[in-house]
Amino acid sequence: MTAFTNRVSSLTPSSVDFINRIGAWNHLKKYRTQKYEQMHVWDGVSGAAIDFGDVGLEAPAKPGVIATMCENDNLVRGLLRRIHELGGVEMIDKTRVKSIGYGTDDGEMDLSGWPVVQLDNGRELTARLLVGADGQNSPVRTFAGIESNGWDYGRMGVVATLRTESAGENVRTAYQRFLPTGPIALLPMPADHKSPKYDYATLVWSTTPEIAQKLKSLPPAQFASMVNAGLRLPMADLEYLYKHECDVTEELNWRESVLKLKDPKLPPKVVEVQEGSVASFPLKMRHADSYIAERIALVGDAAHTTHPLAGQGLNLGIGDVECLVKTLEHGVMDGKDIGSVLSLEPYFSERYLTNHIMLGVVDKLHKLYGTDFAPVVAARSMGLSAVNSLGWVKNMLMKQAAGGKTLIG
Ligand SMILES: Cc1cc2nc3c(=O)[nH]c(=O)nc-3n(C[C@H](O)[C@H](O)[C@H](O)COP(=O)(O)OP(=O)(O)OC[C@H]3O[C@@H](n4cnc5c(N)ncnc54)[C@H](O)[C@@H]3O)c2cc1C
Repeated sequence: MTAFTNRVSSLTPSSVDFINRIGAWNHLKKYRTQKYEQMHVWDGVSGAAIDFGDVGLEAPAKPGVIATMCENDNLVRGLLRRIHELGGVEMIDKTRVKSIGYGTDDGEMDLSGWPVVQLDNGRELTARLLVGADGQNSPVRTFAGIESNGWDYGRMGVVATLRTESAGENVRTAYQRFLPTGPIALLPMPADHKSPKYDYATLVWSTTPEIAQKLKSLPPAQFASMVNAGLRLPMADLEYLYKHECDVTEELNWRESVLKLKDPKLPPKVVEVQEGSVASFPLKMRHADSYIAERIALVGDAAHTTHPLAGQGLNLGIGDVECLVKTLEHGVMDGKDIGSVLSLEPYFSERYLTNHIMLGVVDKLHKLYGTDFAPVVAARSMGLSAVNSLGWVKNMLMKQAAGGKTLIG
């Protein structure tokens, strides 16, 4: 089975457009990326569904790309190659930032307000502006004394690389089923070119730590059957599989034959899981109080972390980078000190609200679908069915999601 890494992100068209505009997209291995133009989302409790893509579009509108699946490694490698091509930048690899402090005033130059980064290879770097792109536990954010608030979801995101039966589609589809414990998503990766019978896909299954533990303990064939069960079986059957030690494949086959599931929108069956690709990550919501301080700017997960159910975390980070670059360009043009809070302020005010709204929407979706309480299920299912029947509302939602922006962002 061809190896795809298990850390894969869905890039929105506006993220891809930015990566292309900065000249990096051509440095990615395109054959390892996969666009999808349709998405089927459904409620695991009620079955209410919504389809994005060409399904609800009125003629002569054409389906557009909803997102492009791309391994994080592939993206990082492409960006590094572009930096190398541009030149003029020293890249320091395989080195950790050991600590961050402030410079001093040596009488010739007053660097007392400038951050000094100490590397574990003994080097020290003094920065006019230190950009913290160092993830959710950001040492730069801690150094700047910026608080980050939020909560843990008490859920794990289980990821894996899968091989599925080919649906024989020219246009690929992403699937997401909302279970009360969290959504399970099957996202398309490139087709298996050695065999037209198979496609690749990547899994993001958000679930409780107990179920995540169970999933990780299953042998590969049983894991593949459990994913099929998660995407197909009614809740009571799924509960049984979570709680009992049994042969998941046998149970699934038997339950499917009894239930006679015939939904034409069911995802293609998973046939294999790539060895060593099953992993899990704790899911959190965090938002920093500020993205800037004197000579400091935060981008990406250092500034905000969100649940992966809408595939927006990295896209928000890419939006931050685009905005910060624009802000720095303006600062340089106006002859400002690019490390000053005054120069950085437009970056913070533009990105904070956009990200805050997206974090809020994703959090509400997590809560809305995290219950099987009948009145809530009925209300959310009516809402989903109503939106599904209104082509223009769906088109608007798709446009907003594709731009990595929120409804009012
Ligand atoms: C299961 C799951 C699925 C996801 N799916 C999607 C998706 O489909 N679409 C999407 O947009 N987002 C998705 N996300 C979110 C996405 O993965 C993150 O938002 C993104 O990786 C954040 O990137 P980042 O560069 O800001 O931080 P990180 O990826 O955390 O990178 C931070 C970097 O800083 C380095 N670093 C930290 N401290 C130091 C130090 N002291 N010295 C040197 N280096 C240091 C780390 O080594 C790391 O390389 C998903 C997340 C999860 C958990």
